[in-house]
Amino acid sequence: IPVEPFDLVIFGGTGDLARRKILPGLFRRYCSGQMPRDARVIGAARTDMDETGYREMVAEAIREFGGGRACDDGTLDEFLGQIHYVSIDARGDSGWAELQDLMKGTDRVEAYYFSVAPGLFGDLAERLQSWGMADASARIVVEKPFGRDLRTARDLNATLARYFHETQIYRIDHYLGKETVQNLMAVRFGNMLFEPLWNSQYVDHIQITVAETVGVGGRGDYYDKSGAMRDMVQNHLMQLLCLIAMEPPARFDPDAVRDEKLKVIRALDPVEPHHIVRGQYLAEPGNEAAQPDYRTAVDNPRSRTESFVALKTAISNWRWAGTPFYMRTGKRMVARSSEITVVFKDTPHSIFGEEAGRHRNVLSIRLQPNEGITLGVTIKEPGPGGMRLIDVPLDMTFADALGPEGADQVDAYERLIMDVIRGNQTLFMRGDEVEAAWSWTDPIIEGWEARNDVPKPYDSGSTGPDAADQLMRRDGREWRKVS
Ligand code: NAD
Repeated sequence: IPVEPFDLVIFGGTGDLARRKILPGLFRRYCSGQMPRDARVIGAARTDMDETGYREMVAEAIREFGGGRACDDGTLDEFLGQIHYVSIDARGDSGWAELQDLMKGTDRVEAYYFSVAPGLFGDLAERLQSWGMADASARIVVEKPFGRDLRTARDLNATLARYFHETQIYRIDHYLGKETVQNLMAVRFGNMLFEPLWNSQYVDHIQITVAETVGVGGRGDYYDKSGAMRDMVQNHLMQLLCLIAMEPPARFDPDAVRDEKLKVIRALDPVEPHHIVRGQYLAEPGNEAAQPDYRTAVDNPRSRTESFVALKTAISNWRWAGTPFYMRTGKRMVARSSEITVVFKDTPHSIFGEEAGRHRNVLSIRLQPNEGITLGVTIKEPGPGGMRLIDVPLDMTFADALGPEGADQVDAYERLIMDVIRGNQTLFMRGDEVEAAWSWTDPIIEGWEARNDVPKPYDSGSTGPDAADQLMRRDGREWRKVS
């Protein structure tokens, strides 16, 4: 279903994110017929180039980072006809009159994507207003990171609130745009089967893993000032935790969902220092030049920034009191894998005797790779060998269950951009959620700083420091295999 005609201005339209995700994503929506033939995409960046040059850059980005299957070169040419470019300075006056001219007198949806360094968000918001583009129907899309602690996030919220109402602000967390994440809500709230068991009486524990194989790459400078806690846990893992733990909202509407997520964050226990492990990756043996250790990669031989975090926390409310939540994320790990796992408790009594074996039901929600949901169910081992129990997966890998079309999933960014145009904020973070998440994260980071905590080294291609495994083993549990 096509969305309404729109004008989308991408500040930072020549940057890495625009080229890798936003522009190819828009092209896929164009190919699928969702982006109307009269919508306009206006790149706006400091880079000095003309419209022809920009269109060439966009075409190249689409070729490199993936177009849609249904598209051909003719379609790409049509799409490029809807692309415009303004060379603009977020901190100065150049380019603003031209942008104002382009945006004048249209009655379409107007959206401004701030795909620039966060230090420019305030400048952009202020100039949009002073050049008359911040009218009540305009929407702004704000990239991460949203602050680096509670104070900076509050300042940023206050700055944006001077020019835009909360209903106009779309704070992106692209994890929320993933198909499986929404499916998690469908599974929880669209089936009778799970919700009655979704509490501390039946759930032994929940774990969330976001493992990356890449190192810091070219983002060393930014990453070393941030670390895994700020870059991943405060936003992406926290959002996943909220969706898995929240109460059923009354409706699937933005504020109902976000109210419930906020309650989860506010009910999170502080993390005890002995319930958290930080790590920093070592070089890949034999391949030190291409895959150096973290400190070399960020060019800071004394860096104490973590590239890995594992922690245990709890949610102090009626539903979850007594159920531990474990989270871990890291770079240069053994495999790229993001998964939420709900481990149910043992049956209270085995009628088959302990020798038959016992298996727990495990529901795993995979975000990548092979997005899908699997439920481990205990059955009898087939054959004449008596009553032996085995664990088999009830598998709903989307690619298998839904066929190639179903598997041709919409990338998180494309989905979220279309939601912006539709005016649906459900999958975007509200200002108070972001602040609450920082309120929980800040004391952890401050504790490390006060103790001069040094992250534990871990091998590239591993599952993180041994201490992360011990965190689980101490409780008689283990992490799911990262694969
Ligand atoms: P980038 O450095 O590749 O691009 C920055 C863009 O901003 C360029 O188009 C540049 O011309 C423009 N710019 C810089 N100064 C400007 C000014 N004064 N006026 C106007 N334009 C100016 O950055 P990026 O990697 O594309 O990241 C953009 C934003 O997205 C950042 O907030 C980043 O944290 C966030 N983000 C990026 C990624 C990613 O994968 N690249 C992922 C998540 C979030």
